[in-house]
Amino acid sequence: MAATLIDGRKIAGEIKEKLTEEIKMLKEKGVSPSLSSIQVGEDPGTKVYVRSQKKSCEKIGIEYNLHQFKEDVSQKELEDFINHLNQDKKVSGIILQMPLPSHIDGRGLQRIISSQKDAEGISPANMGMVVYARPILGPCTAMAVMELIKSTGVKLYGKEAVMVGHSDIVGKPTTLLLLDKFVTTSVCHIATGERGTLPKYVRKAEILIVAVGKANLIKGEWVKEGAIVIDVGINRVEGKIVGDVEFEVAKERASFITPVPGGVGPVTTAMLLKNTVEAARLQTK
Ligand code: NAP
Repeated sequence: MAATLIDGRKIAGEIKEKLTEEIKMLKEKGVSPSLSSIQVGEDPGTKVYVRSQKKSCEKIGIEYNLHQFKEDVSQKELEDFINHLNQDKKVSGIILQMPLPSHIDGRGLQRIISSQKDAEGISPANMGMVVYARPILGPCTAMAVMELIKSTGVKLYGKEAVMVGHSDIVGKPTTLLLLDKFVTTSVCHIATGERGTLPKYVRKAEILIVAVGKANLIKGEWVKEGAIVIDVGINRVEGKIVGDVEFEVAKERASFITPVPGGVGPVTTAMLLKNTVEAARLQTK
């Protein structure tokens, strides 16, 4: 039987509806959430993200301020600018758009964003709180993955999960959040792929999360019957956006599956908005 599609747009809509109410209440108390976005250069993907972030923010009452820098901006100039935003009381959240030019140390910049204004939830302090299972401003994509899994209503305790991809911002924090729910989790990465054992792991996954960035890396026939499949990957193939999982075959085997687009992406954006509102609240304390 074909899987139930996990509707990321619907879940994101529900989160945003709640946020709209919270923002109204915050504004009544004189707190006005705002997100400052830093864009370097002219990456076409970034331009699309920035437009969509601005629209999403403004729709629910968050002020969105875009700060654009030329491709040849220096590390020091960006550091100074982030320090200025950290001090500015009118700024609730900060997001540094990726990718950055090769002469810029993006991780270094993310590290200096105040943990109270870190809208993406990826500063060392916020990532650290994930270890203690108490994320305050949590890493957006990992939080989105957990929200999507939760929406299935499936009990997680004791389930076997496989996380494909161990990036700092997606794979690692997602693994920790699963662990906190007593999910037995295996983590696969490039060495698993090179060793040829990826299918073996995927086949046993009751919950499969894939965050790699390679179209059709996960063959549909590897997917365990009845699995929950969360596809984080975003790939452009012949002008279309696809995930990392061979969707058409996988959806015939899974019980729940996220589409790409329309799965993880919208919920990740909703988490960015949620963090911005939480950041505004934190700064009033
Ligand atoms: P990343 O930092 O490039 O990490 C990719 C991970 O995949 C790495 O851990 C890499 O391992 C692993 N990998 C590469 N080839 C593999 C293979 N053949 N078998 C197993 N593992 C392999 O990327 P990311 O930031 O986590 O993002 C991953 C994907 O998710 C991208 O397509 C990105 O665009 C997408 N994404 C989507 C959202 C959303 O909101 N929908 C948010 C964030 C990211 P090594 O490091 O060992 O090479």
